[in-house]
Amino acid sequence: MALTSTSTNLSTIPFLIGGKWISDTSAHFTHINPATGEANYNICAATEAHLDEAVQSAHEAARRPSWRNMLPHERARILHRIADLMIERSDVLARCQMLENGKVWKECKNQVINGAATFRYCAAAIETLGSEITPPRGNYLSMTVYEPWGVVAAITPWNSPITLSCNKIAAALAAGNGVVLKPASYTPTCGIELGRVALDAGVPPGILNVIPGSGSKIGDALVSHPLVRMVSFTGGTEVGRRISELAGKKLITTVLELGGKSPHIVFPDADLNAAADAVTVAIFEGTGQSCTAGSRLFVQRKIIDEFISMVMERARKLRVGRPDSPDAQLGPLASFGQREFVESIVDGARREGAEILIGGARPSDPDLEKGAFYMPTMVTGITNSSPIAQQEIFGPVLCVLPFDDEEDLMRQANDTSYGLASGIWTSDYKRAWRVARGLEAGMVWINTYKQFSTASPFGGFKDSGIGREKGLMGIRTYQQVKSMFWSMSDSFDGGFSIAK
Ligand code: NAP
Repeated sequence: MALTSTSTNLSTIPFLIGGKWISDTSAHFTHINPATGEANYNICAATEAHLDEAVQSAHEAARRPSWRNMLPHERARILHRIADLMIERSDVLARCQMLENGKVWKECKNQVINGAATFRYCAAAIETLGSEITPPRGNYLSMTVYEPWGVVAAITPWNSPITLSCNKIAAALAAGNGVVLKPASYTPTCGIELGRVALDAGVPPGILNVIPGSGSKIGDALVSHPLVRMVSFTGGTEVGRRISELAGKKLITTVLELGGKSPHIVFPDADLNAAADAVTVAIFEGTGQSCTAGSRLFVQRKIIDEFISMVMERARKLRVGRPDSPDAQLGPLASFGQREFVESIVDGARREGAEILIGGARPSDPDLEKGAFYMPTMVTGITNSSPIAQQEIFGPVLCVLPFDDEEDLMRQANDTSYGLASGIWTSDYKRAWRVARGLEAGMVWINTYKQFSTASPFGGFKDSGIGREKGLMGIRTYQQVKSMFWSMSDSFDGGFSIAK
């Protein structure tokens, strides 16, 4: 964690429990801007006692009939008000993200707009997402109804804190839960400001609590808290595994959105210009800090030199700069620690004989030397089993790998512990179908990449996660299922003596 101890000349940001702002500074830390290396502000961090208070508060608020039994159109109205306020305050929210993880302004603004759209989608969905009458197999009416879990712990990472928090909060509130959000320590204020928006939009106090603090200190305690009935986690696979173990002991449900090392595949019959544009965006957008980044590029051997040149030409033109500069396409890495990690992986590959086609270094621009910047990097001369091709880097590093034929491709593309996303470029629709069905990944893009929809379920295979967020399925994730049987008989006709 590259957060420093506190500085006294800065403003101090409180957190939210039970509708009240808590300014307890007993465990606060200073947040560092990754674009400048300067301190942004001090953040009050929650202790285990705060965590307990937040969970109790969510538990009590979620049990109140006024929230639990709120009519769908009234709940939808609150979710729409959140969306309206997010748009009204989009500059404030986007600025939080830009200052904290260094993403460029336009991307931060778009993430706020997408987050607001998620609230609107969930609002519309709960107006129509009803209970079900199931086919009766006796003289009764049988129904399936969906009920909130109670308290949901939502734990988010630093790469896209606004959209990822909205995915969880919008669906969990739509489903009628109370939420304790623990944002990543690198991006705490996005969650805190979302808490303020929710409170101002009429979400009852205690229904959404936001407690920043070190995951290693309060994370385990949050997951293990007896009143937490469901955990929704987005982050790295190792932390996800730990959370799953703790949740397993309590027998509670988890949805885990974890890491990726996604194959991006180009066949010679593809529209190579469109493919080269997409390959460049798929890895370098967000400075590569995206779980769905197309980080392993597979190109059929006969066009690999030509295609590498096309991507290099585009990557060289990318403008690395301060996130508030209107020209910048790539900001810094989200922290200095993350840059060190990226550098260590690229240096390791270099020592093992990899060829660095472009990048592999910090920018030479003196204006950027105080920030955690790193140039777009393309690496070849490796195999799919090289550490750089297997490990999630979460930085602007593209591994270029050749394949001979479809069989060779499928073997290599699926030879990874991850299974989050993938992309295929070909004009042969039968091949696209075959490859798409054979890829072990929760997302497949065909002749496109990084198209997202709040209406489509999102999640991974293998070590990339368990469960799905987004779409109607994503709202059901935050509900438990109850079957009900209403007798239509004048006398009791149940039990094992009746054959059904
Ligand atoms: P991380 O280290 O796993 O942290 C994620 C969150 O978990 C943070 O809030 C962190 O708190 C908290 N945490 C850490 N240790 C914990 C523990 N023992 N118990 C409970 N919570 C704990 O991940 P990250 O570095 O923030 O984010 C990058 C990772 O997220 C990448 O692997 C990326 O692929 C993944 N990701 C996945 C998706 C997806 O949808 N599949 C989307 C985005 C990102 P602190 O910040 O205080 O450590």
